[in-house]
Amino acid sequence: MDLGLSSDELVLQARARAFAEKVVRPRAAEIDASEQYPWDVVSALAEAGFLGMTIPVAYGGQGRSFLDAVLVIEEMARCCTVTARIVVETNMGALSTVMAYGNEAQQRLAAGLVLAGDKPAICITEPDAGSDTTAMTTRADRRGDGYVINGRKHWITGAGVSRLHLIFARVFDETGAELGIGGFLAVRQHSDITAKGLRVIRRERTMGLRGMPEGELLFEDLEVPASMAVLPPSGFRRGFADLMTAYNSQRVGAGSVAMGIAAGALDLAVAWVKQREQFGRPIGEFQGLQWMLADMQTQLTASRLMLYQAARSRGEGSAFPDPMLAAQAKIFASEAAIRIVNDALQMFGARGYSRDLPLERMARDVRMFTIGGGTAQVLRTLVAARLLGWKLPQTRDGYVEASRRLAAE
Ligand code: FAD
Repeated sequence: MDLGLSSDELVLQARARAFAEKVVRPRAAEIDASEQYPWDVVSALAEAGFLGMTIPVAYGGQGRSFLDAVLVIEEMARCCTVTARIVVETNMGALSTVMAYGNEAQQRLAAGLVLAGDKPAICITEPDAGSDTTAMTTRADRRGDGYVINGRKHWITGAGVSRLHLIFARVFDETGAELGIGGFLAVRQHSDITAKGLRVIRRERTMGLRGMPEGELLFEDLEVPASMAVLPPSGFRRGFADLMTAYNSQRVGAGSVAMGIAAGALDLAVAWVKQREQFGRPIGEFQGLQWMLADMQTQLTASRLMLYQAARSRGEGSAFPDPMLAAQAKIFASEAAIRIVNDALQMFGARGYSRDLPLERMARDVRMFTIGGGTAQVLRTLVAARLLGWKLPQTRDGYVEASRRLAAE
């Protein structure tokens, strides 16, 4: 079932699958148990050309599409969620924001770091500003030729391992007047975690994805040159909304990781029900399990089609996937993946509950995808707002109320 993939895409998919089976699968359990970021896998990914695939050829990348990235992400996620997330964030996310809105120096900086193995960090969420991102209090004050950033972010993926940071902050000019929310690039220069002005002050004790550090960052008088402000043409005033459209690539990437985990779980379940016998026959002969398998496959195919369609929508007048398609694909794929992994685990009986099999790791890992990158509830609000013709407000003053006001204007 190629679901309309071209011969080039099928070749890439097969190459990614072979790589994942040979290099990634043997490392997955150890990455989870050790809770260590897998630098060896990063080097192998870079060597195989899976990092920075979407970077334009002019900057040393391959100029590949988001669909290419989705195909590779799924294959990695079948074996190891941490590896799949590294592929997401070295091809989508903060990188695609910089590639769309950054100046040439910023684009060359990001491309160089990613191709050398860096997984950029995107820093939006704060302790009191989660779904309501516009409540952020991290500030960037204009001083001379640059900005000085102060504030705190938490749940930042890659904290302590990422070098390139895309930091979102409220921007103030020299007079103290607020200009809006902007993005700034900062590079953590040293391998230690106390580089000047940017400190990792805590590592989260996560349920899953344990080889990928999630951490709290403190910015104390972090100096950023003005040339490192990532400024869409709309400027700071409307810039945050534009910068957030870049997040649609991250949503497609996150949905693809969830879909890949589900595909890996279904593979395991299919093999198992043919082999395990009870009541004198393989358990796959029981209709109760066959119908579960059929539902799992149906949800997986639907997820795949939605993600492919969202990935393909980039380029139709936008540098990013369509927001409606990306949101719907992430909602559906992440919720379906949780159900599919849970059902696969059920088919293994007690063995599914054991740490000796990968299913319990997959069940922990997959749980994150209805939360990170916009929760399933907030994405539903986005879909509904578009359906109703309401704009989402950039201000905090009442989500729905502001939407109504904007629609009436
Ligand atoms: P809250 O906003 O407090 O939400 C709590 C609950 O209320 C949720 O169920 C939510 O859906 C619901 N809710 C909130 N508002 C509404 C509403 N208007 N309507 C209906 N329901 C609502 N952030 C980064 O900036 N960078 C990262 O790299 C990053 N990586 C992450 C990695 C992981 C593993 C996780 C778990 C999170 C990560 N995040 C990151 C943070 C993530 O984006 C936030 O957790 C998410 O936006 C939700 O914010 P919150 O956790 O504060 O929940």
